[in-house]
Amino acid sequence: MLGKTHALSGAMMFGVLAVPAAPVAHLSLPELALGTVVCAGAAMLPDIDHRESHVARTLGPLSRGLACAVAWVAGGHRRGVHSLVGVAVVALLAFLGAALRSGSTSWAVAGIALAAVLAGSGLLAGMAWPGDRRRGRRVYPERWHGPAAAGVFGVVALALAVGAAVDPHATGTGVLAVLLVLTLASAARVFHIRRWTRLRTEVDDLLPIPVTFVLLVGDTNLRVVPFAVVLGVIVHIAGDMATVGGCPLGWPWSLTARGPRAFRTNSPIERGPVTWACMVIFAVTVFWNSGIANAITRHG
Ligand SMILES: [Zn+2]
Repeated sequence: MLGKTHALSGAMMFGVLAVPAAPVAHLSLPELALGTVVCAGAAMLPDIDHRESHVARTLGPLSRGLACAVAWVAGGHRRGVHSLVGVAVVALLAFLGAALRSGSTSWAVAGIALAAVLAGSGLLAGMAWPGDRRRGRRVYPERWHGPAAAGVFGVVALALAVGAAVDPHATGTGVLAVLLVLTLASAARVFHIRRWTRLRTEVDDLLPIPVTFVLLVGDTNLRVVPFAVVLGVIVHIAGDMATVGGCPLGWPWSLTARGPRAFRTNSPIERGPVTWACMVIFAVTVFWNSGIANAITRHG
């Protein structure tokens, strides 16, 4: 699926879920706007496991280096990050970051969550080799690769646990900052704002950094961010499942590509009916959520 289709479907799904959620959670218009943009960006986030993807190209060597590291740990493109394990890791990072930042969660919870990650990484180390042996496919190309990847995973989790113990607010803010910069940069990149420096840096690559800074330093309510990030990642995986390649949801235990696998990336079906359907539904939800629909009904 193309980056812009992913972004559009992410924005659409946030709008759809906000129809019942906004009145219950009393979401304000700025929160709805922030959630839409973050969800659109997060709907491109899982392709951080591909070095040529939108998200990997946003911050030059920094994001490309991150993409290479993620691909190495996740066993390649459309593997670990495009699975239920990938969703769980992103959900843990997003909600843990938000909880640590707000100080609403004691660190016992944070510690237990991180211990779960550590245990999970140990589980991965044990399970990752030799993968789907019956079909002659492997989770990792080499025998040492699985345990080494689980080790990297464990070191990152340990660093987060130490950070959470020493300075929960700073650690939570740092985790949210990384997620926000990557998702906002991905969302902005869809619009291809022209480059403005000789450093081959696009305006949209740098813009998310001051925006994220303002969001984190200011008084903005960011409670919608973790939900939008996780929803975006789920929408991305669902979108890839609809394309011919499918997604290995059961990674690392199963490498079978799941999903309806109905059309090819950039096919006339994706550029035509799929894009148009997403646009129409998105427009309806924007209309509805911004209260115009209610106002019109009231004033009849
Ligand atoms: Zn993908």
